[in-house]
Amino acid sequence: MPGWLLFGGSFNPIHNGHLGVCRHVADRLGVDRIVLIPCANPPHKRGDDLAPAAHRVRMCELAVGGDPRYSVDDWETRQPGPNYTLLTIRHFRGQIGSDLPLYWLIGMDSLRDLPTWYYIGELAAECTLVTAGRPGTPLPDLAPLRKLVAAAEVARIEAHILETPLFDISATDIRERIRRGAPFASLVPDAVAAYVTAQG
Ligand code: ATP
Repeated sequence: MPGWLLFGGSFNPIHNGHLGVCRHVADRLGVDRIVLIPCANPPHKRGDDLAPAAHRVRMCELAVGGDPRYSVDDWETRQPGPNYTLLTIRHFRGQIGSDLPLYWLIGMDSLRDLPTWYYIGELAAECTLVTAGRPGTPLPDLAPLRKLVAAAEVARIEAHILETPLFDISATDIRERIRRGAPFASLVPDAVAAYVTAQG
């Protein structure tokens, strides 16, 4: 089925875990377009450790360069104030039109956090949330979500919890490795490793 798979994150930096789940989910859904959306100043994370958006956008571009299915969109980084996924969904819905499916990819840790997301009831209705497994994060109890999201939408979220290959990689671990001079290049695409090394 055609449609767009949107994948938002801090991508600080983008790593092989992001790319692995994204590719797998895109193939499973059969979407013809994947959009990576680096955030500006995320409402659910402290920003202290966040590299400037231009660097994170550039690393995403290097990671997917040459693959025509992918694009990188810096829309969130250009918005004033904190980013809310609902507003991003509405922006892309405006581009894709009302007929085609719009998927928003999250990892299992984000599924656990969904009840804290801005207007999660509306968000769950306006796109299809797709969850990929993540090592160390079991399937969360969805009871808190059921208090905020209509039953039909929770059922759709549950139906889109996909069995994906598991990638035990996090950007936090990569940043720590870089700080202490430990090897990290096998965890990111070659072009991203080269960029990090060149930019220090
Ligand atoms: P950090 O360690 O800085 O918190 P992260 O590795 O979790 O970063 P983000 O950019 O914050 O990466 O993640 C964006 C989205 O990608 C989130 O929904 C997250 O759950 C998902 N994600 C990140 N890494 C993985 C992974 N290894 N497997 C599955 N999902 C992942």
